[in-house]
Amino acid sequence: MATWRDQVALVTGGGRGIGRAIARRLAREGASVCVNYLARADAAESLVADINANGGRAIAVAADVADDAAVEGMVDRVAATFGGVTILVNNAGVSHQATLESYDQEKLQRMRQVNADGVIHTTRAVMTDMRRQKYGRIVNITSIAALGTALPGNAFYAATKAEAQILTLRFAMELGPFGITVNAVAPGFIQTDMTHGTDENAWKERAQKLASAAMLGRVGEPDDIANAVAFFASPDSGWITAQVLAVDGGRMDYLGR
Ligand code: NAP
Repeated sequence: MATWRDQVALVTGGGRGIGRAIARRLAREGASVCVNYLARADAAESLVADINANGGRAIAVAADVADDAAVEGMVDRVAATFGGVTILVNNAGVSHQATLESYDQEKLQRMRQVNADGVIHTTRAVMTDMRRQKYGRIVNITSIAALGTALPGNAFYAATKAEAQILTLRFAMELGPFGITVNAVAPGFIQTDMTHGTDENAWKERAQKLASAAMLGRVGEPDDIANAVAFFASPDSGWITAQVLAVDGGRMDYLGR
């Protein structure tokens, strides 16, 4: 029977925001954790130092999830340090606001490569070990934008997240026979660097508006998402797969205009 102490977790984009809360939570449950980052080594290293100082096991590894060779190198490094990855959390993501008017193919292509191709690269990189172990938990962080509810300017971002969502369902089918579960958590509006922007007042106003539209009367915190991820990643969740869980404070009826 697998326990949390046997788990080796890879959290992409684990240094900041939602990923940071997920990495911290999985470490607290007892997993060894690889905190992946793209550019902000400072953030990833500070989390790793914190986890290790508190009796956990963590390393930080830089890799662009859009680059499949870099992802393979990262997964090899995790295996050499902790053993094969048993929990993969595809959290790394970028959001470029654009409308049909302001569409910029290059920027949007890059967003697709990170948000959708990244999920393919990491899943392919961990699946050999997971299949061999006949065990694995994969959790993809999508968005309620993929469910059709979205703020204006999010159409192309939503499309990348919809791709990640359908990959979740299809990969669950492919990997199920090997004891590997694949699920998605679809966050609503969460307070992170991604949503903050530069204008503090505009941000507060927006957060307040969204909070009042939520059934639970507030916007989300990264820990709200980490909690759902820990549920899917748990050794006990071995008969739950191909699910998309919206964690949004109950504002699915919200259509931003
Ligand atoms: P964030 O604060 O902007 O953090 C993004 C993280 O992703 C950073 O750690 C960043 O690394 C990493 N990253 C970006 N591109 C990467 C790449 N190519 N390779 C590896 N890592 C990369 O974002 P967040 O709000 O925490 O969002 C996390 C996930 O939740 C994303 O997938 C996002 O789309 C999704 N989401 C967020 C919200 C929300 O309201 N915040 C809602 C729905 C869904 P560095 O630290 O090195 O820059």
